[in-house]
Amino acid sequence: MRIGIIGCGVAGQAAAIGLARAGHDVSIFERFPQARPLGAGLLLQPSGLAALDCLGLRSDVERWGAPVERLDGRTTNGRKVLDLHYKGEQGLGVHRATLFRVLHEALIASQTRLVLNFETHAIENPAAPALISADGRREGPFDLVINAAGAHDRLRHSLGGRVRDPLYPWGALWATCSDRSGAFARALRQVYRHCDTMIGILPVGRLPESDGEQVAFFWSLPLSEYDAQKALGIDALRKKVVALWPAAEPIVSQIPSFDEMSLATYRDVSLQPIRHGRVVTIGDAAHGTSPQLGQGANLSLIDAVTLTHCVRSSADIARALEDYERKRRRHVAFYRTASRWLTPVFQSNSRAVAFARDMLMAPGRHLPGADYLMRTTLSGVRCLPWGLWRLPTDQTPAAPAARPEIPHNTRIRQ
Ligand SMILES: Cc1cc2nc3c(=O)[nH]c(=O)nc-3n(C[C@H](O)[C@H](O)[C@H](O)COP(=O)(O)OP(=O)(O)OC[C@H]3O[C@@H](n4cnc5c(N)ncnc54)[C@H](O)[C@@H]3O)c2cc1C
Repeated sequence: MRIGIIGCGVAGQAAAIGLARAGHDVSIFERFPQARPLGAGLLLQPSGLAALDCLGLRSDVERWGAPVERLDGRTTNGRKVLDLHYKGEQGLGVHRATLFRVLHEALIASQTRLVLNFETHAIENPAAPALISADGRREGPFDLVINAAGAHDRLRHSLGGRVRDPLYPWGALWATCSDRSGAFARALRQVYRHCDTMIGILPVGRLPESDGEQVAFFWSLPLSEYDAQKALGIDALRKKVVALWPAAEPIVSQIPSFDEMSLATYRDVSLQPIRHGRVVTIGDAAHGTSPQLGQGANLSLIDAVTLTHCVRSSADIARALEDYERKRRRHVAFYRTASRWLTPVFQSNSRAVAFARDMLMAPGRHLPGADYLMRTTLSGVRCLPWGLWRLPTDQTPAAPAARPEIPHNTRIRQ
């Protein structure tokens, strides 16, 4: 089959790798002149790692990432809000560039045709879809088009169906720093004051060009306050952070200027249906969420692996897409709803919600079943009714990691 994929991000690349290895003629279209990762750090959950395993890429990512054993969230006066431990499995903090690089090398090896500088402006005729670029170029028709254009995708509006994709009024400033003392290893640490202030530090491992272990630092803020914050400058932000979380001083003091921080914005996306003729939408373009639960990239990887499996299993595209939609429905719906409910608990101006969170969240863990529910939710495996399918790889697995291995004992509910 001729397959066209829009977007050279996490979902697009993972889908291209699986489908090209299955023998399809795959082209991937990226709007930027160079394919590149955006943003700083990611927490890959056991579910996403299992999906990478299906693509034969897990050990490549683990070699550079940093194991994350727990999530530790406290108020500025030290009260525990979250103290969640993975059990028998771990998360992996990675620099976005690491995940991007591993996927991109596999994409190139898979013989996928990479078309850069092609901003898809329209998808023509979903029954025999062709792509039209913003500067009038035409590609196709394809047997299947996969829209993986990310959270801010505009194409989903032109496909018909119901779309809701409001921008969250809150975003996050990110930077990558060195963790020279190792004080921030092995946990995602967050500090909260009410619901309107959240500071986080996530270990993200190394990059080939970086000096030692890195962490992603993030600071949450209402988007309406970004300009004012920027005008105050980096010193003011550093002072605020150190006043609320003195231990973060060695990290935040490394950020030389405001321009070294990137602003991440996100949308709460729902799209019904996700398939139109021979066009299917996957990843954030179909179900973007706020990053409170750290699931977006994981969902994208599982989408890609599931779609590859469905296309491999049926020569009839309509049936394959129907099967894909059915297999992904419950898992995606659970995480979209959970993210939607959780977001105001960490990013809002509500004092009442902050009070309830600080009083109830940590003790609530001891209610029967609550710890299991929270851990499996964090791991990304709730409502994942199907196993992830091992795909044949076209390359020898990477050499054993020089870094500590994470046990390969992820369990996905069958
Ligand atoms: C602050 C923040 C923190 C996050 N933390 C986590 C985390 O800890 N764990 C986690 O799992 N997820 C996290 N996420 C979510 C994760 O980044 C996304 O879910 C994931 O990147 C989605 O992958 P995607 O392939 O759908 O989209 P993207 O990775 O955004 O890729 C979309 C691609 O499409 C291209 N494109 C867009 N429009 C067009 C067009 N018209 N034509 C051609 N190309 C186009 C873009 O340039 C881009 O390359 C976080 C997100 C944010 C913002």
